[in-house]
Formats: sequence, C-alpha cells, structure tokens
Amino acid sequence: MSDTKADILITNAHIFTSDESNPRAEAVAVRGNRIIFVGANRSAKNFCDSNTRVIDELGHTLTAGFIDTHVHLLSGATWMGYADLREVHARGDARTVLRDFADKHPSDEWIIGWRSEYNIVSSRHELDEIIADRPLYVRAADAHTAWANTKALEMAGLLHNGNGSGLPDGVVLDEMGYPSGELREARAMRMVLDIIPTPVEARIREQLKLAIQGFNKTGITSIHNMNGDMNDLMVYAAAEDAGELNLRAYVPYSVKPETREEELQEAAEMAKVQMDYVRGGMTKFFMDGVWESYTAFNIEPYADDPTVRVDPIFSPEHFIRMASLCDKMGLQIAVHCCGDGAVKQTLDGYEAIQQINGTRDSRHRIEHVEVCQPEDMPRFKQLGVIASIQPSHASLRLDEYKIGRDRLGEKRWHLWQPWRDLKNAGAHLSLGSDWTVVPYDPMTHLHVALNREKLSPTGTDQRLTLEECILGYTRDAAYVEFQEFEKGKVREGYLADLILFSHDLFELKPEDIMTAKPVITIFDGRIVFEEE
Ligand SMILES: [Zn+2]
Repeated sequence: MSDTKADILITNAHIFTSDESNPRAEAVAVRGNRIIFVGANRSAKNFCDSNTRVIDELGHTLTAGFIDTHVHLLSGATWMGYADLREVHARGDARTVLRDFADKHPSDEWIIGWRSEYNIVSSRHELDEIIADRPLYVRAADAHTAWANTKALEMAGLLHNGNGSGLPDGVVLDEMGYPSGELREARAMRMVLDIIPTPVEARIREQLKLAIQGFNKTGITSIHNMNGDMNDLMVYAAAEDAGELNLRAYVPYSVKPETREEELQEAAEMAKVQMDYVRGGMTKFFMDGVWESYTAFNIEPYADDPTVRVDPIFSPEHFIRMASLCDKMGLQIAVHCCGDGAVKQTLDGYEAIQQINGTRDSRHRIEHVEVCQPEDMPRFKQLGVIASIQPSHASLRLDEYKIGRDRLGEKRWHLWQPWRDLKNAGAHLSLGSDWTVVPYDPMTHLHVALNREKLSPTGTDQRLTLEECILGYTRDAAYVEFQEFEKGKVREGYLADLILFSHDLFELKPEDIMTAKPVITIFDGRIVFEEE
C-alpha cells in the first residue's frame, strides 16, 4: 500500500507514454504537479482515497501534453484583436470586413487586417478605395507580406522622398517608382509596423488568455514562441505571476540583420529567466523568406520564374559572426529556412561555429526545412541540428500543392518537406504548427503527416507514423528545449501535463484521425480543459 494519495487518477486508458523504458500503461496517478505513478490498473488503486478524482477512460489514448515547437502565440494573440480576413476570398468581401471593423472601432487610430490571402489586395490604391481616412495595414496569412494604404505609407515616411530611392528591398515600387503599397518580408513591413501603436498590455493579456484556452482545448501544454524579445518574455512572466498562464512558454530573442553585437546581451538576460512556466535561452534568426512570395533562398532558380534572384537575409560571414556569439553565450539558435540554399548555408554556419567555439550539446535548430538537398540531410545528425517541422505546410494532395507544382517545379518535388528522408538520415525531428500561418490544432498536423500523398511518384513516401507524430510533439519536442527530464513523457516524477483523447488513436484509420480530439487536458497537475 502506498501512503501517497493521488489528486487525479486515470485508469483503463491506453497510455502511450513516449517512454522507451515503459512504452505502454493503463493507469496514471497525479499528485500536485507531478506524475507519481504509471502502470497497471490493479496497482493504481493504492493511490486512491476519498479525495481522489478518478477518471475511468474506457480504453482511450492518453499521452503527454503536446509541445508545439514552432508557434507565434503572443503576436498571434495580439493580432486576434484585429480584423480577421481568413474567410475572405474576394476584394469586395475584404472591403466589407475592414469597413465593418472600422465602424465598430471608431476610436482605433489604425485599421489592421490579418490572415489575408495573396491577390485580395495588392496596392495602396486598392486599399485607399476601402479606407482612406485612417491608416490601413493588411497582413498576409503567412505574415511574410503586407499591404498598406497611402495614409499609412505617408505616416511611415515612405512617400516623402517622392519616389522609392533609398528604401529597403521589399518595399515594392510601382511603374512610376513610388511605393506600391506592397511590403515584402520583415524589413520592409517593419517600416510601417513599427509606427503602429501596440495595444495596451491589458488587452494583449486578455487575448492571450483566450488564445491559451484554445490551445489547451487541443491538448497543447507547452509552446516555443518563435519570435520575441525581453518585453514579450515579460508579458508571459506577468501572465504567469497573475496565474493566467496555462501553458509553458519558451521565448527566443529575435536576431535581425540590423541587430548589433552588443544587443545580444538582451538574449543572455532572457536566458536567466527560468520561471516555472516561462523561460528564455534561445535566439531566432531568419535566413530567408517563403516560396509563396519568391523570397525563399534556393539553390536552383524558381521553376515558374527563373529570373528571380534571392539573397539570404544574412550573408554567410554575418550569420557566423552573430550566431557564434550566441553559441558562445550558451544560447540555442533557431533559424528559419524554407529554401534549400538557406538550409545549406545555415548548416555551413553551424559547422563553422563548431570549429570556432568547439562542440557542445547545443541543439541548434532549423525551422521548416521545406526543401533540403540530399547531401545536406545527414549533416543534421552529424552537427546535432534539429529539424523543426510543421506538417500543415505540406498540403495533403498533389492538386493542393500549388507552390510545389509551380515554384519548385517537378525536378525538386521529391525534396519538398522531406520528413522521412530526414529521419532516415538520422535527423531529430520535432513537430509544431507555425500558427498563425496555419491552424495550431495538432490533429490537423497529424492528419497531414499521416496522410499526405507523394508529390513525386518516384520519390520517397514522406509520411510519418502516428507513433512518430506523438513523439515529435512530446518526447522529441521536450528534448529540443532541453527539458527531456522534466516533461514530454508519461513517467513517474515528470510534470503532469497530459492529454486524454476521445478515441484510441491507434485504432483509428489514419484518414480518420481528425475525428479524435482531447476530452481532458491536464496542465501542471490541473485540469485546464474538460469537454462537457
Ligand atoms: Zn514561424
């Protein structure tokens, strides 16, 4: 008989533990914020007394809480307060949504739309026809392009010179040489974004709370907030202090091309923040943009427009200089790489850094890895680099692969989102969503990972197994943030972050995975979501 009684006891579950020493179990007991028992139903009874909440699971799957290793939660929560254009497919509908929003928010100085498809609006004149008396800024769903009206461009000083000379790349010019209103990639977008007043923190915190409720509902109990600075970290810290933070957040410092070496000190300060739920310790770089807007840095030209030339956001020397400083400070590095050229240059950089600083357990990472050359795949393992992937960026079927079909061209199809090839080459894979670009619900990502069609008939079947997906969201994701001894497994002594599903996931046909969803999410020993 055990003297320790559980607060929560779950029995008759099919537990996928993500723990190689004890892969399957029937029962789990939680006391405080820790797992105190994982094993057979008959032994579990010992942990039960009159105060124990007993949940009898009837054979459904239980896993560790999911860790989304690439998501933009805080900025997403902020954008949730703006006009949502996700359901808009024509300019007339965009006008309706934006004008409605403007009417409902008469005191908002700026009108901001987000999650727009491309080709809904593409110039300031089109935006002026929607709203001209207030600055208007519309961001694309992938967050790599935005469009601003004339008023917004004027306020940002982009029209003052009379023409576009001296403006950064990415500020698209019209045939007269004036900014057209289209802004590609962060540097150009920030010319306008930086003058938009940020909402007051109370409003952001309120929206963050709402967003987290949504995350918990889908089983997410930890996130890597893939952009940030000390301010962002402090918003999370304040939410934790106020008892509002029902997930664990790992927040990087974003290193931009214009970031000065001494500014990296902020990243070092962030790394000292190690609260129960909120932690710093990572830096985030962008090496390129995205295939959609011809800003991905690829080795071979774009198939549908070979004239496009893309430079990486950091030159090789610049990246090595900044990244080696981060590495020397013991920080983890994550680099956004969509094109195969970006992947290669980043791996080259990581290799150079090891030569400069020596080898350590650095777990540097590459985000997205949308296209990767075969010769670069084994380098992930050789250099100890993590491939952080977001399955929904690969579409399900060939006829949905517009980007794949057009921009990559048939010759490169077999290199698109090469998850199986990366795994076969020994790369450590972790899974995430990249919300707000695509939905955060892990089930939508599992669906694509389990069911995507082969893009190239002769290429590798790049699908993942259910087991690999769950590991990618649990054990292998915890490893990515150096927390593999604290979470990511259903194991005695580990943090009690758990998901109970509505089905036995392993009994479902892969194509039916979306019918399953969490019915209970436990975070830090507390039930934070329970289906009615
Ligand atoms: Zn991202």
